[in-house]
Amino acid sequence: MRVRMTRRVGFSSGHRYWLSTLTAQENRALFGAWASPYSHGHNYFLEVTVDGVVDESTGMVVNIKRVDDLLKDRIVSQFEGKSINDEISAFHACSPTVENILLYIRQCLLRDEGGDLFTVSRTEGGEPSQQVHLVHLRLEETPLFHGELDLLENKMTLTRIYEFAASHRLNSPQMSEAENIALFGKCNNEAGHGHNYVLEVTVGGEVDDRTGMMVDIERLDHVVKERVLLRYDHKNLDVDVPELSGRITTSEVVASTIFAQLDGSVPGRLEKIKLFETARNAFEVTR
Ligand SMILES: [Zn+2]
Ligand SMILES: [Zn+2]
Repeated sequence: MRVRMTRRVGFSSGHRYWLSTLTAQENRALFGAWASPYSHGHNYFLEVTVDGVVDESTGMVVNIKRVDDLLKDRIVSQFEGKSINDEISAFHACSPTVENILLYIRQCLLRDEGGDLFTVSRTEGGEPSQQVHLVHLRLEETPLFHGELDLLENKMTLTRIYEFAASHRLNSPQMSEAENIALFGKCNNEAGHGHNYVLEVTVGGEVDDRTGMMVDIERLDHVVKERVLLRYDHKNLDVDVPELSGRITTSEVVASTIFAQLDGSVPGRLEKIKLFETARNAFEVTR
């Protein structure tokens, strides 16, 4: 049986959007508002997912210690407490965006094996017996922004996380009062109720060689703010939002409506939205 295992590690690093190979004017033209000759820092978190067959003799896909050692040796030791632009040669002429860091981490992890395989021996010091596939990388730059690289589909996405607070009432005009109460329970309360919604917006596209960026995140923030947040935040979804008028504002409906609001307007390609109505329920819409 194949099982996937994910390991999460953290490192703190400095970076800047300012390439020493370019002039000040060229840097400003390329990075716009992000351009600065001074560094700032992030507490990055990297999640590495491997896929393999459970070894009957150990009960493991791979000894997690081997994965930890590999991540420490090849990734954390390079990044922890370092200035990425200055201390990792690959970033002297390449901007340290989440996109480029993900591509670099993939290259560091796969460097000996070729292809998309990351071979680990099952026993300490033993011969490599089975191949464990590196299938997914997720790099969190802040709690509200992360990138993911799916190695099987060779696809990269960026996800930005937003919040809005709104009220609503679940009530179907096609049902009787008793039927509405039976179906929707507390959510049918006549005066409504509210949620702090969390909205994750995931976009894909091609990484621009010059900027190292796949999409303009400032532009994404602007579009989400204009098309959703300003119109949904601190509103009653049943009466204040025209595209939800006359519809039952379940999170399935709200999530689908938000997807339609953003599709075609966000920079890059809208891949997915995920709407958390509460911390315990979430709804995903993909194309
Ligand atoms: Zn930064
Ligand atoms: Zn509700």
